[in-house]
Amino acid sequence: MLAVLAICGVASAKDTASIDAISPLTPPCDPARAYCFAVQLHVAQTADGLVVPPAWIANQLAIANQHFAPLDVGFQIAGVQVAPPGTEHVRTRAQRNALGSAVTGRVIHVFVTAQLENVDQSTTPVFGVAWRVKQRKIIILSAKSWDRTLAHELGHVFGLPHSTYPISIMNKTPREEPARETRTFADEEVAAMGPGMKRLLRSKVIENLARRRD
Ligand SMILES: [Zn+2]
Repeated sequence: MLAVLAICGVASAKDTASIDAISPLTPPCDPARAYCFAVQLHVAQTADGLVVPPAWIANQLAIANQHFAPLDVGFQIAGVQVAPPGTEHVRTRAQRNALGSAVTGRVIHVFVTAQLENVDQSTTPVFGVAWRVKQRKIIILSAKSWDRTLAHELGHVFGLPHSTYPISIMNKTPREEPARETRTFADEEVAAMGPGMKRLLRSKVIENLARRRD
């Protein structure tokens, strides 16, 4: 029975409740933001339920909103759905690419998996990735990721590479200083994301929901 459910991608009653619990925990964009972008969530599930609790997702969104405030950007949830079967363990490039079939609309797609494997030669664990499919980047987040991983991957979506700024959440070098709690995007990175965002808007990968309020 479970196998049938998994193949059909149908959530159990319990998991439907979990899916439904995510959106109410995540507020719409702060009305003060000049830009508001929608995020479509695809959350993997196993026989034990969703791979992360609703509060885990709400926390990732809230932290992303904090780090993007200097760019005057906010994020809100467009919708939440169960990710395609198999998404609970993303091992290969082919699996990452296949997620593109679920990608439509002018929203940022975020897939949440229990485990995300490296697809290059590196042996470092992978907590998240911004993966190019269909002329855009989707985000795949591991349930094992840091609470700032979504913000980091959104930085990639907005065009940032990894950096060496000590303050930056795009700097992957292990370091003591500055303290982890104080790290965010470097001023130079905030400036660089502006043109990156404009490119995404021009190419209709995303749309600014804040403009609808005018
Ligand atoms: Zn990265």
